[in-house]
Amino acid sequence: MPVVSQVTCPVCGSFCDDIEVIVKNNVITDVRNACAIGAAKFLDYANHRSVKPLVRKNGELVEASLDEAIRKSAEILIDATYPILYGWSSTSCEAIRVGLELAEEVGGVIDNTSTICHGPSILSIQDVGISSCTLGQLRHRADLIVYWGCNPWSSHPRHVERYTTFSNGRFQKSTWRAYVSRLGGILSKKRLRRAVNLVLRRDVFATPEISRELPYTMFKKKRKMVVVDVRKTHSADVADYFLQVEPNKDYELLQAFRMLIADEELDVDRVAGVPVETLDEIADVMIGCKLGVIFFGLGLTMTEGKLRNIDAAISLVRDLNRRTKFLIMPMRGHFNVAGANVVFTWQTGYPFAVDFSQGYPQYNPGETSVIDILCRDETDAALVVASDPVAHFPKKAAQNLVKNPLIVIDPQTTPTSLMADVVFPSTFVGIETEGTAYRMDHVPLPLKKIVEPPSNCLSDVEILQRILHEVRRLGSKRK
Ligand code: SF4
Repeated sequence: MPVVSQVTCPVCGSFCDDIEVIVKNNVITDVRNACAIGAAKFLDYANHRSVKPLVRKNGELVEASLDEAIRKSAEILIDATYPILYGWSSTSCEAIRVGLELAEEVGGVIDNTSTICHGPSILSIQDVGISSCTLGQLRHRADLIVYWGCNPWSSHPRHVERYTTFSNGRFQKSTWRAYVSRLGGILSKKRLRRAVNLVLRRDVFATPEISRELPYTMFKKKRKMVVVDVRKTHSADVADYFLQVEPNKDYELLQAFRMLIADEELDVDRVAGVPVETLDEIADVMIGCKLGVIFFGLGLTMTEGKLRNIDAAISLVRDLNRRTKFLIMPMRGHFNVAGANVVFTWQTGYPFAVDFSQGYPQYNPGETSVIDILCRDETDAALVVASDPVAHFPKKAAQNLVKNPLIVIDPQTTPTSLMADVVFPSTFVGIETEGTAYRMDHVPLPLKKIVEPPSNCLSDVEILQRILHEVRRLGSKRK
């Protein structure tokens, strides 16, 4: 059976490139090396998809020819005075490039999903810079890994195994054996508790408190993992140490670490619910590592303080670099959200929320970002590519999005595509279409074509090119 190797997984920002896919008669029958989320995408992508373009007529979405759908989309975009073009994080860089051309042509606003995830991180990086590197360097050299406000065990299931704690690097070895033996102890305790409860028919054990004491593994000269979060997650179970921070107190905690690293005194007993002695010990572990890294997620970016939290985290890393080597990296969600930022920046100079309404690119998140435009009800049409804003935007933004003409390009049926006026079922990039995408550390990797798409389906690039061509044709006719 043909095996396609070195396939990249088009799901999360880890963008694993060691997937093997077994194909029989143009059907994917098995997947190796992928996590459950990645495997489900390869094996089930074809379920519940539509393959014909749809156009809304008399309130109903009905099948239409591709030419009719293209013409209708071009008319919607030309007739609009302030259209928005949104999505872009789950498609290829090639499609994003055409999307930017289209946004400029129709004088619209183009924005990607960073606007609702790591937008504040980007603003902060623009303010204060960032010390970062590739995931390959971390795999080989990092001996202290801090996950702050993120839960990679659930959201990026292979991140820990491929790039950090459980990866076998050239200079740092995997610590999965230690975890497996620790897990054995945890499971035995759980089993014992369940058995006793069953016999006595009541819970005689108090819920165990989260220990503040640093375990001995934190002081060993080997790879260590620390999770900082408001609640105990699966990633925290895997970590050597879990630091529980009070909600919305990350900024205080980061600034406290900065003071301790600068050998300054703190005049309080606790910061963000954590005793200062514990913070002091963790600060010592940070200073004592050879190469440390902070991976941060939306628990830091989208909580109180937003970009100021990231300012503080980057400043902490800068301070640590006076004593040792430390780096920082955002945990990007969609497989090509980093690529969306990169391509936007190549073409316009700005990573998201780019407004072409004056004929040149303008960038002012808060004013030119799509959620703000939608909440102010300023737009009059929208094109959504490979995204589902109706399911994820605030209610007011979603209501204003669907009340205007809406075009959706997406291989899947989503709440947004059900509300649209024109729907293009495109091919799955990375399965039915090739392309390029950027991993979370900004390393570009190829997306492979593994199987042939259904005969009527075009790729995002082809659909966008045809809409762009039609917009130019109709535009020149109307002049
Ligand atoms: S970790 Fe992410 S990129 Fe890797 S296989 Fe799982 S879903 Fe795919």
